[in-house]
Amino acid sequence: MTMLQRTSSIDPVKLDRLAQVAVKIGLQLQAGQDLFLTAPVAALPLVRRIVEHAYRAGAGLVTPILSDEEITLARYRFGPDASFDRAPNWLYEGVAKAFVGNTARLAIVGDNPMLLAQEDPAKVSRANKANSVAYQPALEKIAGFDINWNIVAYPGTAWAREVFPGDEEDVAVTKLADAIFAASRVDTDDPIAAWAAHNAALRARTAWLNGQRFQALHFSGPGTDLMVGLADDHEWQGGASTAKNGITCNPNIPTEEVFTTPHARRVSGHVRSTKPLSYQGTLIDEIAVRFEEGRIVEAKAARGAEVLNKVLDTDEGARRLGEVALVPNSSPISKSGILFYNTLFDENASCHIALGQCYSKCFLDGGKLTPEEIAAKGGNKSFIHIDWMIGSGEIDIDGVHADGRRVPVFRRGEWA
Ligand code: ZN
Ligand code: ZN
Repeated sequence: MTMLQRTSSIDPVKLDRLAQVAVKIGLQLQAGQDLFLTAPVAALPLVRRIVEHAYRAGAGLVTPILSDEEITLARYRFGPDASFDRAPNWLYEGVAKAFVGNTARLAIVGDNPMLLAQEDPAKVSRANKANSVAYQPALEKIAGFDINWNIVAYPGTAWAREVFPGDEEDVAVTKLADAIFAASRVDTDDPIAAWAAHNAALRARTAWLNGQRFQALHFSGPGTDLMVGLADDHEWQGGASTAKNGITCNPNIPTEEVFTTPHARRVSGHVRSTKPLSYQGTLIDEIAVRFEEGRIVEAKAARGAEVLNKVLDTDEGARRLGEVALVPNSSPISKSGILFYNTLFDENASCHIALGQCYSKCFLDGGKLTPEEIAAKGGNKSFIHIDWMIGSGEIDIDGVHADGRRVPVFRRGEWA
């Protein structure tokens, strides 16, 4: 394993465009605004491009924090046992403070998705829990959309090898880089214009769905007959949206989905996953679950069933839905046929549902609602939020109105 990979297999022009898109579309970084950035050390070539574009856009102060796979593994192998219940609270408190002060947030993903697969699962979950608890005050500002934030991806070597196991390292990195560039719309000469057009197309979809005000969506297809009630006063979101600090940004690059909040107590029927779910180094495949009154009462998986059932037992909300999202089967990520082992990409390949926490921004005036009001409208609450894919070229979706009237939304995996 190398710490810094050679960058010769990554197109420098497209990498620079990706940095520009992250700053100008992903963040809409404002003149004078500070930026807090995290990235794996392997993504340093992209970090450098982003920092340059940020300062050229008038950034105040850019503060990067880098992580390294070898350093993470050293903790698991040599760190004292008690340390797995601890997290750097002082750091996360500072991050929350930065967000209160209107600092923008950028995360570059690109780590090996199987990095912790060989480590003690109890240590992994203790460390995750300690981190989630310490990070909570900062995460609230992100989940509540207080500030503009964005996630982009860099083709790390270990990740590329996982996605393209049959290829030489250089070839795998080039393939993953090209897939990231295409999905992030930087394979065109004017990515800024391409994103404006894409955001407009997503806005047209959300406007139509918000006008319909469906009470439920009915999914049908092989192994699937699922009625997903939608939360009261739900709002469909997709593409660019405006944070509470008034800045309109694209939190995810890439993004293909329009999504909203299901009603945590009004989901019934059964559904089968259409793509494997990569969860903390475990692959969970061929998931089949049955819902009664919003709750999963039966769960099976051909692979990873034990991990799936552990996840479902996290808390009461883990057995209920917090998101439903629509993505046509012809989306560029779906057409690539690549399993990325990374939710940022895989969730944009297919219609999906998420177990666990809902988004407050997916309600009318969501920013002003208290957690109690969100729960009363059907919003789910949980420590987890895990997306898994239920769409394919064989899925039909009907929108169901309060009076039972049905409107075709998807036919054979495409917008009707
Ligand atoms: Zn989603
Ligand atoms: Zn999600």
